[in-house]
Amino acid sequence: MSSEKVSCLIIGSGPAGYTAAVYASRAGLNPVLYTGGQPGGQLTITTDVENYPGYPEGVQGPQMMMDFEAQARRFGTDIRYGLATKVDFSDSNLHKVWIDNTKLIESPTVIIATGASAKWLGLESEQRLNGHGVSACAVCDGFFFRNQEVAIVGGGDTACEEASYLAKLCKKVYMIVRRDELRASQIMQNRVKSLPNLEILWNTETEEVIGESEVEGVKVKNLKTGESTLLNVTGFFVAIGHQPNTEVFKDFIDMDSAGYIQTVKGSTKTNIEGIFACGDAQDNIYRQAVTAAGTGCMAALDSERYLAEKGLH
Ligand code: NDP
Repeated sequence: MSSEKVSCLIIGSGPAGYTAAVYASRAGLNPVLYTGGQPGGQLTITTDVENYPGYPEGVQGPQMMMDFEAQARRFGTDIRYGLATKVDFSDSNLHKVWIDNTKLIESPTVIIATGASAKWLGLESEQRLNGHGVSACAVCDGFFFRNQEVAIVGGGDTACEEASYLAKLCKKVYMIVRRDELRASQIMQNRVKSLPNLEILWNTETEEVIGESEVEGVKVKNLKTGESTLLNVTGFFVAIGHQPNTEVFKDFIDMDSAGYIQTVKGSTKTNIEGIFACGDAQDNIYRQAVTAAGTGCMAALDSERYLAEKGLH
């Protein structure tokens, strides 16, 4: 197994990771950034980003992440493809991170910017038909269901955004909502409620996705009446939130019960010296690209100060 010593290791390539990279590079920390399994992070599977300051006309998510990457490269960040598969943070002077189970990176500072991933309902049929009509990304897969009928589960901003996107492409969209209200912001609620080809099924849960090799329908149940109905849809989208990608750190880093990393208030410090966390991996409240970028900046500044205090920079 090959090994390498660096002074600042950044894990993750969303807004948090790349912003940390820009700051750490400009501060002369020579950071190495590993992208993780989804280079560019969650924004690469979204369309319009309208609320990131500095883009008055909005920007496409994938384009924005290419811009982030280009900016980090411009200042010399060493960007590599690979996933952190194991860590050992027991020696606080030199942290160990294994990449793809093959390469060992040792670094006095590690910036965790691993973000979060889509949650699933947990139905056997949902997993079996994943990629065969079941998807957690309308923007990636909506195209395949043009002029067809589809269903989407969830009542948050993500579900509303994806339902609006699907309504532009599909003949009909059923929105399956487990309560009698949406969690989404008012503006997004108004948007979905105004769509003529979108029907919200309130107080409804998904019982089963029907189909052998591809989706042929979805069985739903009204929780008030107990009545089950079959929706004749060919696509089934899940948009019920996200979970932090922090499993690999759990033996060393303090987290809350949902797996979000706990940081010292007003900083990105974790319970271990030299390990800093930023972005959605440590934020279950704001979860925005701009807040992720802000904490990425904080993590780089915290790392720089830490290295300076240790006489390593
Ligand atoms: P949220 O946690 O906000 O919403 C999740 C939704 O899924 C809720 O309606 C929830 O129902 C429902 N849900 C959760 N579990 C299940 C389940 N097992 N079965 C059925 N329904 C379920 O997640 P989002 O991804 O929508 O949003 C995350 C954050 O990102 C939010 O802060 C949001 O505002 C933000 N965001 C902002 C956007 C923007 O500004 N353009 C776009 C997208 C997201 P219940 O309400 O009953 O719990």
